[in-house]
Amino acid sequence: MRSFNFSAGPAMLPEAVMLKAQSEFLNWNNTTMSVMEMSHRSPEYMALAKKMEADLRDVMTIPDNYHVLFVHGGASLLFTGVPFNLTQPDDTVDYFDTGVWSNKAIKEASRYVNVNVVAGGGSNPTEIPAPSEWNFSNDAKYIHLCSNETITGLEFTEEMLEAVFAQGKPVIADMSSNIMCRDIDVSKYAAIYAGAQKNIGPAGLAILIVRDDLLGQARSDCPTLMNWDTYAQNESMFNTPNTWAWYLAGLVFEWIKDCGGVQAIAAINERKAQKLYDYIDNSGFYSNRIKVSQRSWMNVTFALPSEDLNAAFLAESKAAGLLSLKGHRAFGGMRASIYNAMPEEGVDALIDFMKKFAEQNS
Ligand code: PMP
Repeated sequence: MRSFNFSAGPAMLPEAVMLKAQSEFLNWNNTTMSVMEMSHRSPEYMALAKKMEADLRDVMTIPDNYHVLFVHGGASLLFTGVPFNLTQPDDTVDYFDTGVWSNKAIKEASRYVNVNVVAGGGSNPTEIPAPSEWNFSNDAKYIHLCSNETITGLEFTEEMLEAVFAQGKPVIADMSSNIMCRDIDVSKYAAIYAGAQKNIGPAGLAILIVRDDLLGQARSDCPTLMNWDTYAQNESMFNTPNTWAWYLAGLVFEWIKDCGGVQAIAAINERKAQKLYDYIDNSGFYSNRIKVSQRSWMNVTFALPSEDLNAAFLAESKAAGLLSLKGHRAFGGMRASIYNAMPEEGVDALIDFMKKFAEQNS
């Protein structure tokens, strides 16, 4: 009944999560009301919020000296808030410019602080330059990067991240489109942030994981709701949170645990991405432009041999139950977002369809 939905976000959620939410939609936990209708300060909801945070800490092995904050405004308001929380106007900060999302973060930060671009630039780069070409500033307050560029499907490799950590500066990462796709060592980052609408839950919630010593440094004119302290000191409930999104995110974290944790899901993610890239590379029909070692596990972009075929590809894939494959307008072509909730059968079905389409149009 449900199609495979390859949307980049809001994206597919695990079916088990949707069914659980449906089954308790009208009467959550025998409270005889929906979780959506419940005060966020009620003991029942506070217990849900605590469990949700505990499960996330468990799933990502978040050390005790980190706060987990649940915030409004999406990943965009979070990247706007980084300079407000960590710098004064005359400070310098280092940013990687590896695609649309890191570039938006740069544009925003440049309004409030001096930004040095470490590497990258240009429109939709298909590769992150080698560390030998990186240009760090001596006095940067932090280094910012987007670990996975959603539009192109360009992802930092482990080796590159290690080279960034080796600078010994606080590293702030936008992980909106690859959080929880594999195990990471949170303790290497000063802060990690992500919008929920890909691997966490529905839109309208964003998560910030921040080391405690980075709190308490916000500029005096930082808006209250952008100040990380506001969330840290009020259990992320300074004002009314998106209670429904928190609840669903909690179900997603439970689902990850039920699947065997991030490590188990990572093995499936690697397989899903590898088989799709293998097919694309060997098809003689489709092509992917991203440097092979930096290809994303989550967003797989590909082009057809002629743009004239795009409309037919999209119409026929939709008819076959494979939705939202159109690439971002900034990059063109197609994009299959295959986040944690995309079952392996979805990728198999996509490859089958792509094979048939290639045969019919070669
Ligand atoms: N960063 C990345 C990597 C993204 O993919 C997106 C959204 N697609 C954003 C930031 C912005 O997120 P939001 O819409 O939650 O502000």
